[in-house]
Parts: sequence; C-alpha cells; structure tokens
Amino acid sequence: MSKILLIAIVVAVAFWLLRNHRRRADRHAQRPPDPQAEDMVDCAHCGVHLPRGEGIVSGALYFCSAEHEREFRAKH
Ligand SMILES: [Zn+2]
Repeated sequence: MSKILLIAIVVAVAFWLLRNHRRRADRHAQRPPDPQAEDMVDCAHCGVHLPRGEGIVSGALYFCSAEHEREFRAKH
C-alpha cells in the first residue's frame, strides 16, 4: 500500500515540475520582441546603417538603395 502512495507522490511531483517548467517556457516565449533585435547592416556604397530587412541584398553585401547597388557595381 505504501508503494502505491509513493508512486502517487512521485507522479504528482513529476506533474508539478512539468507544469512549472512549461509555465516558465511560456513566459520566455511570450516576451515581447526587442525592437533593437533586427540586425543592422551597412550600405556597402555609402556606409549608412539600415535594418537588414530594409536593405537591398546583393550576395554578401547590403545597399540602402538600388541606385547605390548600381553605383557600387559600376566602380568594382
Ligand atoms: Zn547607400
């Protein structure tokens, strides 16, 4: 009989730990995204800083505008 009680306690503790762990994971996931989280890149032509998503990607290089990409390509 005491064995059953022990198993019940172990199961209860396991559930409690799992619930706590999941709650902590949820809290971590719900953290609002950091507005500074997006990578900043430099325009290869003029050096201006811009968020990666707003730049023009050309191979490993980033440009602030299509015009700067063209000018950079013309010079190199
Ligand atoms: Zn530029």
